[in-house]
Amino acid sequence: MANPMADEVRRFKGSDEKNPFEAMSERFDRAAQLLGLDADLYAVMRVPSREIKVYVPVRMDTGHIQVFEGFRVQHNFARGPAKGGIRYAPDVNIDEVKALSAWMTWKCAVVNVPFGGGKGGIICNPQQMSEGELERLTRRYTAELIDFIGPDKDVPAPDMNTNEQTMAWIMDTYSMHARHTVTAVVTGKPVALGGSLGRREATGRGVMFCVNEAIKRYDLTPEKTSVVVQGSGNVGGIGALLMHEHGYKVVGISDIGSGIYNPAGLDIPNVLEYLKKNRTLEAYPGADAVSNKDLLELPCDVLTPCATENQITSENADRLKCKILAEGANGPTTPKADKILHEKGIFVIPDILANAGGVTVSYFEWVQDRMGYFWPEAQVNARLEEKMVASFSELSHYAGKHDVDTRTAAYMLAIDRVAFDTRMRGIYA
Ligand code: GLU
Repeated sequence: MANPMADEVRRFKGSDEKNPFEAMSERFDRAAQLLGLDADLYAVMRVPSREIKVYVPVRMDTGHIQVFEGFRVQHNFARGPAKGGIRYAPDVNIDEVKALSAWMTWKCAVVNVPFGGGKGGIICNPQQMSEGELERLTRRYTAELIDFIGPDKDVPAPDMNTNEQTMAWIMDTYSMHARHTVTAVVTGKPVALGGSLGRREATGRGVMFCVNEAIKRYDLTPEKTSVVVQGSGNVGGIGALLMHEHGYKVVGISDIGSGIYNPAGLDIPNVLEYLKKNRTLEAYPGADAVSNKDLLELPCDVLTPCATENQITSENADRLKCKILAEGANGPTTPKADKILHEKGIFVIPDILANAGGVTVSYFEWVQDRMGYFWPEAQVNARLEEKMVASFSELSHYAGKHDVDTRTAAYMLAIDRVAFDTRMRGIYA
């Protein structure tokens, strides 16, 4: 019998460094090979379970109909319902959504929450759409997916350019079709509608919990640790603020267009206030302006890319000057860059652990919705910390035991868990 693994490895040779699904597959292949994953499990686990494509008609404010292309990819259900965000962006594409859905499967497995992976996307430019247009787009997209989502099937959440309001519209549309209120169909909802306290801050907080553990390897304390954050949205902005409050010296931060740097440390609450008022960090007083590209190459102890994919590639990895790379974004580093970082001795907290705080509190939200009993914020945060610290330690031990880098270890650990459950359930083939 032909070895499917060899075929697949061949297929990805000479591949496009910046294709996220190829990046995911390359890492999956390496981990699967090291685990000695059998060919049947390999064949099932390396592809998504379902790729759904929808064309979404929306009545625009002009009165005309515009049709938008949308996706929902459900990568794996072996450990529970699919789980993952929905992003709205002009350049979102199926390969990106496929990669992101697979990353959700591995992420949920790394932190051991009982979900599979999913991800959605709509090709649109949310900055140029009115609130009404976004609402109609969201509702019709939800209606198109009505048979595929649900608390036991697939539970969406916010991602790039979607937020609590988007989740409220999805929850309401789903509930109108079900003819009763179903809060557990999405997470990341407003607290008043069944959301969880602490969910909004959870991804940034999870990044910090990982960094708290990683700096111990370098005998650093937060006060002695300089941090550079790429991004100032839900992950980067909140992560920077929480780290600042925890005593870290945040020396650099960026928004979409520009960055700022002050080696003495930035007053992050003030920076975020400025950003809110001016919608840009440009001309922020008391710091030097840096481009987004240069920001990544600033000297610091911890660099945390919290924006988007493919920021650290074979082109710039060699110029990074951090000790620790904490990946707040999904897929910020390419596999080619991984090799360079490894040679440079940079300690990587891989995305599928570093940014798993969001989905961990999404899990807590789903549990609270289903219990109809809501926890105080301190309890949410304490349980998140417990989960992140335990997962960090588990991953460090696993990497040591198998003598592999932390990225490979994270994939191996995740694949091993999903494979174990799939093997036990059996493949209905
Ligand atoms: N979009 C977030 C992520 O990439 C959260 C997903 C969720 O909470 O389901 O992890």
